[in-house]
Amino acid sequence: MKHFKSPFIHALFASIFAVSVAIYAGAAPANLAPVPPTVDSITPTELRMHLEFLASDELGGRFTLAPNFGISARYLASQLKAYGYKGLGDHGDYLQHFDVISSKPDTVKTTLTITMGGQTATYNFGDFYPSTTSTDGEAQGQIVFVGRGISSPSQKHDDYAGLDVKNKIVLIVPGNAPGVDPSKLGDNETGQGAARAHGAVAIIQLPPKRFAAFMQSKEFKEHAGERESVKLAKDAEGKLPAITLSPETADKLFNSMGLNLKAIYEADKKPIDPKALDASAKLVVGLRQERVTTQNVVGFLEGTDPDLKKEYVTFSAHYDHLKTGPGGEIYHGADDDGSGTSAILAIAHAMSLQRPKRSVMIIFHAGEELGLLGSAYNADYAPALPLDRMVVDLNIDMIGRSKPPGDSDEADKHLTDAHTIYLVGADRISPELNKLSEQTNSDFQKLKLDYFYNDPNEPERIYFRSDHWNYAKHGIPIIFYFDGVHVDYHKPTDTVDKIDFTKMTAVTKLVFETGWRIANLDHRLKRSGGDYVFGDPDQRQMTICGNCFNQPCFSKFSKLIFRLGDTVAKRDKNVPGFEIGGTLFILNIVKKTYDHAAGVETTYRAVSTKNNRRKVARVGVGHAVVFAVIESQK
Ligand SMILES: [Zn+2]
Repeated sequence: MKHFKSPFIHALFASIFAVSVAIYAGAAPANLAPVPPTVDSITPTELRMHLEFLASDELGGRFTLAPNFGISARYLASQLKAYGYKGLGDHGDYLQHFDVISSKPDTVKTTLTITMGGQTATYNFGDFYPSTTSTDGEAQGQIVFVGRGISSPSQKHDDYAGLDVKNKIVLIVPGNAPGVDPSKLGDNETGQGAARAHGAVAIIQLPPKRFAAFMQSKEFKEHAGERESVKLAKDAEGKLPAITLSPETADKLFNSMGLNLKAIYEADKKPIDPKALDASAKLVVGLRQERVTTQNVVGFLEGTDPDLKKEYVTFSAHYDHLKTGPGGEIYHGADDDGSGTSAILAIAHAMSLQRPKRSVMIIFHAGEELGLLGSAYNADYAPALPLDRMVVDLNIDMIGRSKPPGDSDEADKHLTDAHTIYLVGADRISPELNKLSEQTNSDFQKLKLDYFYNDPNEPERIYFRSDHWNYAKHGIPIIFYFDGVHVDYHKPTDTVDKIDFTKMTAVTKLVFETGWRIANLDHRLKRSGGDYVFGDPDQRQMTICGNCFNQPCFSKFSKLIFRLGDTVAKRDKNVPGFEIGGTLFILNIVKKTYDHAAGVETTYRAVSTKNNRRKVARVGVGHAVVFAVIESQK
């Protein structure tokens, strides 16, 4: 009997159902827009058609650096074009190009020398490894142990307090400190950023506790020399040389420095005391680097309301997956994230059949599997549309799988069943978004929404692990839709035949319905703690939150005011500027780069008063948009 449940009949029932509910929802007191019957253009047939192309052998797994990756991009662009979207990429096309740098360690050039108590010891590749954030280069200096290396004034935690690390090498234990919310740490408050902000010249890092065992395995050691790390070319600028010690070397060095590695690992969530050490190091990091151009795919559908259309709702998924294996094994990535990519295409299509009041931006990110690179590019460097007009990002990464009844495979422990989906992040920035999302689900799809991965203490840290994070860190409300890790996750066996298209259709419709209602709200989604962007476009005067310049602001902060057109040389009470990690930055206007119908884009240079620092950041101010380039004064 099963095969009578054809997609056609299924779609027909879904359509009747949705129309009747839409009428009901329109009368509901929640003031949420009725959802149009165009939602029923989202069918299992359409989703399957896209997915069978994207997850095909011919596309070879959609690896960002593969020569044929552009075919996937062009497929997505062609669909957006057919739906009537406008290209937001280069030259009016849909492709938003950016450069990435792929590096492999130069195992011969890379060395470390440690001098301690008059004795010098030399270490080679294998005793330690270049960190993925490292630049190539060399540095030497005294070693200062800075604990977890977190320096966050807004969270009142400073591992650098009372330490002078200028021109020195910092030794860091990776991990989070008790009482610190990592989701609210700015780039300059942790890791490389904090080390640079305090004037350090290099970083020696302990192996993260959870990778220590893996780093001692034969598998890791054999392949470490060929390990490829890929980052945004823009992110690679201004980085310090950084290495990670092998567990064996870390143990040896720590003991001789009078520190106890085991005790530090066991301290886990307890405080660690930083201190300067009676040791110095010289390190050389050699990298073999290659620059590759890749692309996001971005399209725009204008909203119907003359005012509200200036704002937009984003729907996103990553369309990249993994590199073909040495034996030619293709990683099809049907679920990860062929499912999200197909779903976003179907949503783009449905939105084009009847447009909402606000505009819609569709973005397919590249380089997600390599470290959320495409979204970082769009969020941090060259947004296709101003970020301050982005009302929400609904991001889908894996929605196609369901746990079959009776499946007791340990690897499927957290895989959701046919009627359940994980939602992550919905309540973190905008409680109103969470309410709207739940109301919409109970009005229409009636799925079981599971918030297991939304727990801030959940060790998988899913909130930080897909593209939505790069928008959330700018204070944009997000929801991340996810079916859970499963036995085929990141394996060649993640194939189309295992997809549950009934579930995938329901989740896709839920995302459409939620996005539709946000796009038609008479007000912008409220954020907890108030909006982090302030401004009065008429007076061309803006207020920037000092602590939260490039991250969501939930905290109390000092407001620093400046006017567009001001050029300021030094700090005084009214000088435009802001503070990150104890360093004051003065804002100077460099140039007005672009005139929007509704605003202005201006480039500022924020000049550090102390350290050699460089950072591109961006804030929205009323209708004006500011790009601040934070760099050193030299
Ligand atoms: Zn993914």
